[in-house]
Amino acid sequence: MTRVPFICGNWKLHKNVAESVELATAIKNAVGPIRDVEVTIAPVFTALYAVGKRLEGSSVALAAQDCFWKSDGAYTGEVSAELLRDVGCSYVIVGHSERRQFFGELDAAVNLKAKAALAAGLRPIVCVGESERERDAGETFGRISAQLEGSLEGFGQEAAAKLVIAYEPIWAIGTGRTATPGQAEEVHAFVRDRLKKQFSAAGDSIRIAYGGSVKPDNARLLLEQPNIDGALVGGASLKADDFLGIVKYRSG
Ligand code: PEP
Repeated sequence: MTRVPFICGNWKLHKNVAESVELATAIKNAVGPIRDVEVTIAPVFTALYAVGKRLEGSSVALAAQDCFWKSDGAYTGEVSAELLRDVGCSYVIVGHSERRQFFGELDAAVNLKAKAALAAGLRPIVCVGESERERDAGETFGRISAQLEGSLEGFGQEAAAKLVIAYEPIWAIGTGRTATPGQAEEVHAFVRDRLKKQFSAAGDSIRIAYGGSVKPDNARLLLEQPNIDGALVGGASLKADDFLGIVKYRSG
């Protein structure tokens, strides 16, 4: 099964509108001729519209970092999937470990968000990952399994075709401590197996991206693993050269 590698830069809470447009422009210009990798960037909410406009006509896709599950109403501070679509997003990250950790987001909420994203025509990037304590206690597979079950509850094959899963071990996010290719592939193969059980053949087409201190110098070995179909990149996505070094991992 050939899966087009998916590389997404998660800019988190960094960069104002002008800085975001500047970085998006550098990425857009460099990615122009690249067709064998799908490149996506996820700026802060306030920069989405301007970055979306700048990306028009390019192959770089726009993602949001979160969404709410209701379309509209009295939900102060929230942003719906429909509104994200309206400003040019085609993807949305849901269930990032920072949302789970700092905002108490549970799998049931991740599930509602992913469903709302699909209903609005967005493709959800569903994040899962174990903590250091869970890994040390031998609970990695149980944790990932529970997160997948809760987050993807009620999803059918049609939805599966639009999903991206991001495996992000929490102990590797922003720490400089990357999972070894072997450690990551072991979990990705487990996730693949689970996806095939839930979605049959469609499970084989779902891209599973790895996230956790991916950098230009470790991207290649990770992305060469059979079930690692891309990368969700935090810190290294904030500088054009670093991010592009990951996008061009094959030439590294
Ligand atoms: C992330 O936030 O999704 C991430 C993987 O961050 P970093 O690359 O900085 O570890």
